[in-house]
Amino acid sequence: MKLLDIRDLKTFYGKSQALFGVDLSVEEGEAVALMGRNGMGKTTTIRSVCHLTPAQSGSINFAGKEIMRMKPHRIARLGVGLVPEGRRCFPNLTVEENILAAARPGKWTLDGVNALFPRLAERRDQYASTLSGGEQQMLAIGRALATNPRLLILDEATEGLAPVIRQDIWRAIRTIRAEGQSILIVDKTLSELLPVADRCVILEKGRTAWTGAPTALTDEIQQRFLGV
Ligand code: ATP
Repeated sequence: MKLLDIRDLKTFYGKSQALFGVDLSVEEGEAVALMGRNGMGKTTTIRSVCHLTPAQSGSINFAGKEIMRMKPHRIARLGVGLVPEGRRCFPNLTVEENILAAARPGKWTLDGVNALFPRLAERRDQYASTLSGGEQQMLAIGRALATNPRLLILDEATEGLAPVIRQDIWRAIRTIRAEGQSILIVDKTLSELLPVADRCVILEKGRTAWTGAPTALTDEIQQRFLGV
């Protein structure tokens, strides 16, 4: 069953058009890697799904409901859990309070998040503002998971972090995947991203240009769309 089904999405920033026709779907239990060079529309697509930058036309179906005109809090309530670029936690709440403030009943509990990120467990009583950037990113992921989303969206969750922390986050993402969590993920580290993805969707100038299995992503396609 399709959990997320985006068709012909068009989004503008003021008069400037960023998305010209994005098609993208995520099946229940699937991990989809959203790819493309800088500025091709990955973050805008994610922001459109969450109604943070509302789309102008097209359709966004989530779990059988049209959500394109819904407000962000309703979309979150339906089960879209976003870890935005540049992580956001409540600085004046402790680690544990941050997680509990987000928590909704389901398989991911405070204990589950603590097991996933032992570094967070060790810092449970610390204010979020005192965490390192990497730890704040872990907390952002932990918070999103604690909402027990049907779809977890990760936008550049490992960008700009120290290598050891990146390893911890990738390990967590692999565990989350192994639990069968549906995921839409943007990340530049292809060597880590491709092994966790069931399918890749590549954007080029605000349009879906290619979709296929990671194994079908040849050097030629990478050269053409990702410029590596
Ligand atoms: P990156 O990897 O650099 O984040 P991206 O694929 O996520 O790239 P977007 O951030 O979605 O790309 O950008 C898509 C287009 O929209 C770009 O042309 C960008 O300049 C433009 N854009 C993004 N944010 C804004 C904004 N707040 N106002 C105006 N234009 C924007």
